[in-house]
Amino acid sequence: MGSSLGVNLLPLNRKRCSFNCIYCECGWTNGGGDASSFSDDSFPTPEEVEAALDEKLTKMQQGNKRMPDSITFAGNGEPTLHPQFAEVINRTVKVRNRLAPDANIVVLSNGSTLNNPDVFNALEKVNQNIQKLDGGLPETIQWINQPLNPSFDLIQQVEYLSRFNGKVIIQTLFLKGVVDGITIDNTTDQEVEAWIEHLKRIKPQFVMIYPVDRGTAADHIMKVPEEVLRQIADRAEKAGISTRVYY
Ligand code: SF4
Repeated sequence: MGSSLGVNLLPLNRKRCSFNCIYCECGWTNGGGDASSFSDDSFPTPEEVEAALDEKLTKMQQGNKRMPDSITFAGNGEPTLHPQFAEVINRTVKVRNRLAPDANIVVLSNGSTLNNPDVFNALEKVNQNIQKLDGGLPETIQWINQPLNPSFDLIQQVEYLSRFNGKVIIQTLFLKGVVDGITIDNTTDQEVEAWIEHLKRIKPQFVMIYPVDRGTAADHIMKVPEEVLRQIADRAEKAGISTRVYY
């Protein structure tokens, strides 16, 4: 992302997410993955986000500071759970155009709200729409990401991701580990083959491939060797998928 101005749309007091990834650096998700379960005052308003961005970027301009390469929505959970996410993006585009026209707007999302047309349309307006896809087989996704929505369906998810018509970047974390006595490994041949089939359908700009790098929610999660990630990337490249390995 280059130099990135991070924006956390989520309440500061605790992680809010619709997934419960075993590798999450924010720890386990404790209830409340559904935006409707949060009180309205848990989130900054779109006006507050706009004012904060305006203030920060104006200060940087006036201080002759290097302007950010990107304005990145991430934070302690899933940014698209903000109930007015679309309005936040609209206002961010306006501020960016006025004060930092060269900065990319980036969203890091787990993709769990792509069924919401407002969120989907907003993601089409950003420069880097980065969506999570942590494996090829449904049971592996369930074990790794543990979506809170019991009707989460991997095939449906791939369908949503394909509707971006290629204006999407996929982010995949590869790991091995044992959680609750179950061995989890999304680097197996079968897993990678299924993952590549999904990517062929999604046709992303490129895929970000990376290992765990910080503390994880579950114990006993292993960092996959770089060589394994490079082999997976080679397989994807041979199938016509652009990849970038981060290690
Ligand atoms: S989607 Fe991101 S924030 Fe949510 S549990 Fe997974 S890693 Fe953590």
